[in-house]
Amino acid sequence: MGELSSFLRKHKRSFPIGLSGKTGMGYILTGGISPLSRSRGLAIDQIKEIKGFWGNGKEFHLLLPNKKNESQFEWKALCGAAIFLGIITKVKLKTQPLRPLLSWTANLSFSQLSECINQAESWPNSLSFQWICGDDIFGHAIGEIKNIDDESVLINLLEKLPFSRNRIISKVNDMNSLPNLSLGNSKNNYSNHSEVLGLLGPAWQERNPQVLKNLKELINKRPNKSCYIASQQLGGLTHFNDLDTSFIHRDAVWKPWINGAWEAYDQSKRTRTLEWMKECWNNLEFICPGVHLAQIHPHLDWHQKELSSAFKDWLPKLREIKAIHDPRNVMPPLN
Ligand SMILES: Cc1cc2nc3c(=O)[nH]c(=O)nc-3n(C[C@H](O)[C@H](O)[C@H](O)COP(=O)(O)OP(=O)(O)OC[C@H]3O[C@@H](n4cnc5c(N)ncnc54)[C@H](O)[C@@H]3O)c2cc1C
Repeated sequence: MGELSSFLRKHKRSFPIGLSGKTGMGYILTGGISPLSRSRGLAIDQIKEIKGFWGNGKEFHLLLPNKKNESQFEWKALCGAAIFLGIITKVKLKTQPLRPLLSWTANLSFSQLSECINQAESWPNSLSFQWICGDDIFGHAIGEIKNIDDESVLINLLEKLPFSRNRIISKVNDMNSLPNLSLGNSKNNYSNHSEVLGLLGPAWQERNPQVLKNLKELINKRPNKSCYIASQQLGGLTHFNDLDTSFIHRDAVWKPWINGAWEAYDQSKRTRTLEWMKECWNNLEFICPGVHLAQIHPHLDWHQKELSSAFKDWLPKLREIKAIHDPRNVMPPLN
């Protein structure tokens, strides 16, 4: 995605890449939630044409459908669930004009995080808030400047955010120039293994204090220093409702994700971390009933649950489509 962004920059265009330039095609195929998605939609919403091979080896080439027919189901299936169905070899994507971005970063306390989330829930959709919580809490707000009036409106909103230290407000040219959403303790990563579970849910509003209380308790009992909980703001993409895709949680406002880490090859620590992840999921499910399948876990006992939370009523049809196009489960299973 970083290379795509650099290439487009030369042509003064941009694409809603995610928080890291390092992700590949999987970012687009699994939804692709960008800090710019609140206004631009998901990465799958930019797909105009898609080519590839179904799991049964047959080639396909589909165009963005404009009326409801059987091939629309296949399009819908590929936009968000392609990784279960086939290998994508080519996509044609919409791009947008390159616009400058505003970036606000700071360290926060739990109560400041709570207030930032509260404020972000009433922001215009050109601004989004992301945060990461482990040993420390780091917040990152990203805004797209569409015109000169916008800039002062966005700066005003950013200046209202509370922080404890290291607040930096800067203007950058593209997504590649933004700072990473990290706690800066990634140097030990090679000695750790990890799993990531992405959740989706509505605005926290009056439940904000309860979510924050749960979050604090979960962070305090995390089994490894590299475990953390983070979140992106989607802000409800209901204005893209006419696009029929496998990303069914169009009204989700937050995408918190749970990063569970353990010392590599230590099975008992792995088990403890997976238990902690399940506990996080159980404690956050009341506010995040959905799942974003950016990472899949066919090797874990929660695979069934994450499939049904990700696709809900659409799962049976998705399974029918898989039975036709990938009957031998060459691609990852949908059951
Ligand atoms: C540092 C980091 C930051 C991230 N930030 C975001 C973010 O901001 N927003 C967001 O939505 N997600 C984010 N993610 C999640 C990321 O988008 C998913 O993990 C995605 O699946 C990664 O895709 P990949 O191609 O890089 O990885 P891979 O592990 O290569 O692929 C992921 C999955 O997609 C399948 N796949 C890849 N290419 C194809 C293809 N051509 N055809 C069929 N299947 C294919 C693979 O088989 C695999 O199951 C982030 C991940 C990381 C590591």
